[in-house]
Amino acid sequence: LPIIRAHNPPDYIPEANFYKVEAILRPWRIPQVSSALLKMGIRGVTISDVRGFGSQGGSTERQAGSEFSEDNLVVKVKMEIVVSKDQVEEVIEKIIEEARTGEIGDGKIFLVPVSDVIRVRTGERGEKAERMTGGWADMSSAGSST
Ligand code: ATP
Ligand code: GLN
Repeated sequence: LPIIRAHNPPDYIPEANFYKVEAILRPWRIPQVSSALLKMGIRGVTISDVRGFGSQGGSTERQAGSEFSEDNLVVKVKMEIVVSKDQVEEVIEKIIEEARTGEIGDGKIFLVPVSDVIRVRTGERGEKAERMTGGWADMSSAGSST
């Protein structure tokens, strides 16, 4: 399968420090996508089972897999990943790389500006709340003296 890339991003409007990458994907691709994201240092992900219709028009998978249709809806998984602005494009590229089959029904990604992140345990907000110990930012600053 040839590698494709997301086309050049526009300036993100409205501007925010954090964005939610919301991806509707094929359920059987989720383990592959999650483990690739984990390797990048993405540790915070929310996953829901959803059903919907799009170009696939409620039709079932051609390859069996775990997908099935019911009331003309196709079973999908929604992954929600809140990241800092500078991590958005790499996360999108990785999702495409891991989730794409090239067939109708591969899904769609929505990018949503997030006003704030609040950690319930501590009351921290903003960057402190969004950062995860041992996550991407920690991994990329490891070894540097700053
Ligand atoms: P802590 O107190 O260290 O923050 P916690 O258990 O209260 O730990 P997390 O484990 O960080 O909180 O997160 C709880 C849930 O929130 C996760 O299971 C996940 O569903 C969701 N979540 C956390 N961070 C993100 C994120 N960046 N993007 C999407 N979902 C997230
Ligand atoms: N941006 C966070 C960090 O670098 C990771 C966010 C996430 O795991 N969703 O720690």
